[in-house]
Parts: sequence; structure tokens; C-alpha cells
Amino acid sequence: MSDVLVYKFGGTSLDGADRIERALQLAQEATERGSGVVLVASAMGATTDTLHELATAGAGDAATIRRLIERHQAVARQLCSGAVLSACLAAIDAVGVELGEQVAALRPWRSPPAATTAAILSTGERLSTRVIAAAAAERGFAATLVDARQLIRTNGDHLEATVDRPATAQLLSAGARPSAGELVVMQGFLGATAEGTTTTLGRGGSDYTASLVGAALAATEVVIWTDVDAVMTCDPKVVPDARPLAQLSYRVAAELAYCGAAVLHPQTIGPAVEAGTPVRVRNPHLGSGPGTIIHAGGDHRGPAAIAFKQGITVVNVTSSRMLDNYGFLRRIFATFEAHRTSVDLVTTSEVSVSMTIDDESALPAIVADLEQIGTVTVEQRQAIVSMVGDGLLEADDVLANAATAINGTPVTLLSLGASDVNLSLVVPDAASNHTVRALHHALLDMQPQLKKETFR
Ligand code: ASP
Ligand code: MG
Repeated sequence: MSDVLVYKFGGTSLDGADRIERALQLAQEATERGSGVVLVASAMGATTDTLHELATAGAGDAATIRRLIERHQAVARQLCSGAVLSACLAAIDAVGVELGEQVAALRPWRSPPAATTAAILSTGERLSTRVIAAAAAERGFAATLVDARQLIRTNGDHLEATVDRPATAQLLSAGARPSAGELVVMQGFLGATAEGTTTTLGRGGSDYTASLVGAALAATEVVIWTDVDAVMTCDPKVVPDARPLAQLSYRVAAELAYCGAAVLHPQTIGPAVEAGTPVRVRNPHLGSGPGTIIHAGGDHRGPAAIAFKQGITVVNVTSSRMLDNYGFLRRIFATFEAHRTSVDLVTTSEVSVSMTIDDESALPAIVADLEQIGTVTVEQRQAIVSMVGDGLLEADDVLANAATAINGTPVTLLSLGASDVNLSLVVPDAASNHTVRALHHALLDMQPQLKKETFR
């Protein structure tokens, strides 16, 4: 079997004829090297937002639909000609008519059934893939347009559908596998139930689609073409010296995603992680470099990045009854569960427990309940600052250098993840930027440059 690459392009990377042209150029470079390519496409630009407004406004907005259709047709005209163009324009018109009917059937001031909303939202990807497939045909390379609704099998939770993984893997393997040098074009974000009603995988779901395809086809790589050049050692807005990372392990990528760094959602890459498929984040612009590869291996030990998240609340519960007793932790966590609030960091001593939450909406009720268990104090406007890396403490002097760097900063809480991937501090929001810069300087600037790696 030939090698398969999955290329996922987000809305921004498909927004206009030039960008679609660039996406196809990248795909063609890969097919010319002999790879089979599956191009998983989002809707163009902010199309899904517009469709969402159409669905929720609950009234037939003919002008908006016309603009949407005309915009896709205008892009098609820039990219195609002759019979390819006429067929594409007709296909876009047909999707437009269908959309018009769906929107006309909506009732003002009443939210539509989820199945109707999903059908309306699916329009964006169905339109973008039509244009892309036609533009590929115009460039003269073998492209097959497949329908994700026949390949991604889901349950009936129409707007946030759960994928039937075994069924989907089989369908993809039989229906989306490109041969050597072939391009398959497919919608991200969409699926369908066994009965054939359209579903969506939740906003931003195209990355997940790409990961499903990559896993099912045992792809060499899933490339998420997006508007960031790479995953950075830190947010460059806070640390101007932040550097791009050539590689990351799945575990570190997952930690960074929680800590507010702009990488992929851990759930998104789940199928790729299970299948051991590398996922690369990369910018389609010419000259923007190889991006960051996220994979199972990674021989780099020690700190890789500093991430942070502001607007955190720390809840402390102290009780002398906790000493030599049992069941306290269960009661404390049951309180958070009852109020549907997720706890992120936890530290305990013999008589106290400290926890962080990022959602304060149930805080008063949580505090009232916890006061039945012990003395409760709350610290708001805090930030989690995380040092992240595989074998974080294996590199020399990490703890000592971190301690020196934060000397004088009031630390509310400190937590070392059991897996040695994440050492997190909680500091006041007001001190967080300074703390992040100091730690980046101490742990990442001073390090010898990471081994330079070259990729295809
Ligand atoms: N078009 C969908 C959205 O905007 C899916 C995606 O782009 O990933 O949410
Ligand atoms: Mg949380």
C-alpha cells in the first residue's frame, strides 16, 4: 500500500481562491512524490458562523443565503473554467436551493430541532469541498470527492455527535483510501447516523475528522494546516523570545492544550494517538517552515514549554478532623461533582486540601456545601503557570532553577503531576506574566538549543 497523508485545511486556509490554490498546490506536491492524499476541508472562512446565525435567527434570510452561494460561485469562477465550472456552479446552486428550503421551514423565535441545525451547518463543508474538487480537476490531477456522511458513522446527538469508531474505521478504509498519487477530497466536521441523517462533530470538529481518517488509513502523517507557524515554547505575546518547537510528545501536547496554549484539543488527536499516527501543525504560507510534529516518541527530556492560564480560583478546605480520618476527600470532590464543576489541580496536606477551578459559576453554592466539612477560604484572580516536558525533572537543576526564578513571587499552590510531565504553580494573576517570563528565561533560554531536526 502506498503512503497516505491526511491534509486538513481550516476555514482561514481556504478563504478565497488564492488560498484554495495554495492548498491544492501543497496537495499536488505530495501526490507528485507518490503519496495518496486525503484533503479534509473545513467550510470557507466564517461560513459556519453565518450558517449558525441563519439557523438560530429562525427566519428565512434569503439575502444571506444568496451572498453565501454567490461567494462560493465567485471563487469557483476564479479557479475553474468550461465544463468543470458549469458543473460546479450547478452543484452549488443545488445546495443553495436545499439550504433555502431548510431555512424557510424554520419558525421564528423557536429553536429548530438539532437535526435541522446540523443539516444547515453541513452546507459550509459541502460547498467548500465542491469548489476544491472542481479546482483540482481544473489543475488536471486525479481527485475524488467523497461524502463524509457516508463514511463517518455517528450516534444521533446531531450537533455534538459521538463517532462509532469501529464502523467508521471500516467505512473510511473502504471508501476514502487514495491510491498512490491520488487526491481524495472530503468534508471535515460532518457525519451521519446509520439511518443517514446528517450530524456534526461539534464546532471545530474538522481536526477530529482528520485524526479519524489518519488512524483508519494508517496514514504516515496528519497535517493540520493552520494559521500558526508552530507550537511555541510560550505565548510570544508574553515572552517575545519564545521559540518554535520542532516536536512534542502526545502527552506534552495534551498538557499544553489544557494550559491555554494554542495547540490541538487532546480529544481531537485521540484517534491519532491510539493509532500512533503523527500529527503536524503547520502554516501553508510559503517559507513558514516545517511546523511542529506531535508524536509518540520524542527523545527530548526536560522542560519543553511554559504555559499559563489566568482567571483561576483556588478553594482551600481545612479541617483538623481530616487528620487520621478517612472519607474527607470523597466528600469534598462529591461537592464539586454535585455542582458540575471540574477541578484541575489538587494538593493536600494532613489537614487541608487546595483545589483550582476555572469556572466560578457555582462557587457560592460550593463554598456553602464545603463549609459543612471544614473551614473554607477562596483566592480569586489566580493563574496556573505550568512547566511542561517529558521527564521534566530529569534535566539538571530544573527544580533549583525554577525556584531561583520565582524567588519573591507569592506561590499559592504547587503541584507536580505524577507522570513527571507537568510542574504547575499557582500565582496571583497580577504576577503571572512576570513569573512566566522568569521561568522561560531560566528553563528554556539558558538551555542549549534543541537539537535541530529536519523533516520532509
Ligand atoms: N466548519 C466547522 C466550524 O467552523 C468545523 C471546523 O472548521 O472544524 O466549526
Ligand atoms: Mg476544567
